[in-house]
Amino acid sequence: PPNGAAHIAELDASKLIVNLAETLKPIPEDAHFGEHKTDHMLVVSYEPTTGWSAPEIKPYGPFTLDPSSSCFQYCPNVFEGMKAYVGPNGEPRLFRSNKNMERLTRSAERVALPPFDEKELLVLIKRLVMIDKRWIPTKEGHSLYIRPTIIGTRTALGVAASDSALLYVFMTPTGPYFDSSAGGIPLQAVSKTVRSWPGGTGGHKLGLNYAPGFLPQRVAAKDGYVQILWLLPHEGEERITEAGAMNFFVVVKRDDGDLDVVTPPLDGTILPGITRLSCIELLQAHTEGRTVLPGIPATQRLYTHERPITMRELAAWTEEGKVVEAFGVGTAVAVLPIGRIGHEERDLVLPSQEGLGVVGKALLRRVLDIQTGRFEWEGWS
Ligand code: PMP
Repeated sequence: PPNGAAHIAELDASKLIVNLAETLKPIPEDAHFGEHKTDHMLVVSYEPTTGWSAPEIKPYGPFTLDPSSSCFQYCPNVFEGMKAYVGPNGEPRLFRSNKNMERLTRSAERVALPPFDEKELLVLIKRLVMIDKRWIPTKEGHSLYIRPTIIGTRTALGVAASDSALLYVFMTPTGPYFDSSAGGIPLQAVSKTVRSWPGGTGGHKLGLNYAPGFLPQRVAAKDGYVQILWLLPHEGEERITEAGAMNFFVVVKRDDGDLDVVTPPLDGTILPGITRLSCIELLQAHTEGRTVLPGIPATQRLYTHERPITMRELAAWTEEGKVVEAFGVGTAVAVLPIGRIGHEERDLVLPSQEGLGVVGKALLRRVLDIQTGRFEWEGWS
């Protein structure tokens, strides 16, 4: 380094230190989301004078952190949610993991955490997955959830960016997130509290976006709803943003017999979901004749629209019998039917109460097939 300045190290996968667990845990038969962690985790720290430390894969376990650490006070904490699946030859697979790295970079930037090299982190995550690959469930609809996390560890209490950080990744086997065997799930539409707002942080995957939803979520559960449909008041209307940790889609019949598939735009108030992007791209590929989605005639056009949807519009489409189905999409669920939406003392009942319709089923099948390597598509898996 010039002028005797300290060398600030980049995140470097070639410096990885691996300390394997002496005894491995038994793998649970059936696991609730997040209940069991795999044997190992990845840990790297950042200090302003030295940069990223040598990454370490070591047995899963607790950290010791200074109580005044920024992560406990001002919450410069960001995370990702991605999954490992097993392919036809038993090989572990990730789904569009480069997109998760891009989103993690954007999240870290938003709360002024130190930047990291996405490619190097992905190499490290792949090493971790390979080491714990016996944990990837093979049952249909099951997978290994991966949670990359970066937290601020600055201990000076001044309200300022954390110039030190801890990056870690742990994993947990998971099955279906919601029980939709009885049909679409009920959502409670909420506008009194909002998840996000123009200019806010809703478009980033920050830990601080989630805690304010816990109380409304508890109220919704008491009223018999599985998740919240977050609305955002806008010029006297209520715009639909997203549902819990899922992006929202509605399929509407057109007068010409084709279908409109409508989802809210990336205006900074919704998380840019990777499943959302994948669904849009698959629908476009079908309509452009580049692929045929399972169970949908090649001649059936599916027009995707990224545009605001108001509750009033959704209610009108429902009353006119134009709604084919509504569903939520995300890493946790892939594609999940929405059965009804509680709004202003009444329930808007949707055809997807019976389960996924033709578009939702096609997307679910195709996404799962790509994730598990049964269908190769544009290097997504
Ligand atoms: N919205 C929110 C608020 C989320 O937390 C998630 C999960 N990451 C999603 C949508 C879906 O995003 P993805 O498809 O990337 O999982």
